Amino acid sequence: MAGTTPILLSPPDVGELEQSYVMAALRSGWVAPAGPDLTAFEEEVATRVGAAHAVGLSSGTAALHLALVSWGVGPGDVVPVSTLTFAATVNAIRYVGAEPFFVDADEESGNMSPALLTRAVERLRAEGRRVPVIIPVDLLGKCVDYTAIQKAAADAGVRLLCDAAESLGAGHSGRPAGSFGDASVVSFNGNKIMTTSGGGMLLTDDGALAAHVRKLSTQAREPVAHYEHTEVGYNYRLSNILAALGRAQLTRLDAMIERRRGWRRRYRELFADQPGVRVLGGADDSEDNCWLTAIIVDPGASSWTAAELGEALTAQQIETRPVWKPMHLQPVCAGMDGVIDGTAERLFDQGLTLPSGSALSDEQFERLASAIREVVQR
Ligand SMILES: *Cc1c(COP(=O)(O)O)cnc(C)c1O
Repeated sequence: MAGTTPILLSPPDVGELEQSYVMAALRSGWVAPAGPDLTAFEEEVATRVGAAHAVGLSSGTAALHLALVSWGVGPGDVVPVSTLTFAATVNAIRYVGAEPFFVDADEESGNMSPALLTRAVERLRAEGRRVPVIIPVDLLGKCVDYTAIQKAAADAGVRLLCDAAESLGAGHSGRPAGSFGDASVVSFNGNKIMTTSGGGMLLTDDGALAAHVRKLSTQAREPVAHYEHTEVGYNYRLSNILAALGRAQLTRLDAMIERRRGWRRRYRELFADQPGVRVLGGADDSEDNCWLTAIIVDPGASSWTAAELGEALTAQQIETRPVWKPMHLQPVCAGMDGVIDGTAERLFDQGLTLPSGSALSDEQFERLASAIREVVQR
């Protein structure tokens, strides 16, 4: 298929509106570091998700890291975390010297299983381990079952740090992603539902936490004329120019979600009569942001596998990817413990994420739909 442009999984969706916002920020002279666009972007995202405070940071990873730093999580602490996630979630735990403890997934959604979380906390408590915080992850734009997870955390008296990097615009029981737990983290990386090219945000109702994270993100400078420091700081603040890009994207968030939801609908139709094939996340995605659509293909019931479909699409320059490789199987986490029942590993073996970006054109979708039909109707 030489000559055809590649179809990517989730490329940035930016155009003239974004250009005008960024140019206006440049012309205003507020180039670095902070400025009115950053303040406004924080307020707009906080309002959107219903959180009292927002702190714009250089990445979602930085937001996870600084929440843990601010809470004093460190060596000797154990942090239950979804195993089915991007490495960033677990890396943040390790930056502070704490130990990740992996919790396996719910079969339908791939999100942290509340039952296994309860087992994990009970086991760690019985072993006399210190558990200061739990980190669930909203997988591919579907919120975890916060009703159950928040109850499990409250019962255990443990903080909840919600990794909502993939779920901005989604919700659970009528409440927006980013508003759950003691704090939530969103990401504006290039492939996420909306982007600042790179960036992230901490969202919380806790004013003291927000103030401390904001201070930590600018080298923990004390509020005096000279450079005075009483604790170790970081250079993690989001720049005003990138915040301007984020403000433009935020005005388009609902439209971009609807576009992705349209692809989700089309994928459901494409695979509807295929035995052993389901869309990860279940039948009801009305509260999801549909960031990425993934299918799970049961090799015992289907005449083709997820890997075969992925290879056939790659040959036609259509990008796909397996779902996250579970962190408990990653070499960098060798020897680390958890409550594992094999679900995440099975979803990794049988799963495939499909092009889902809002910048995907109708023609591109038709091309990829016929490439899929060729494989599944063979
Ligand atoms: C993207 C992502 C992050 C990290 O966000 P960055 O902004 O890239 O640092 C963290 N957790 C999950 C689940 C993600 O998908």
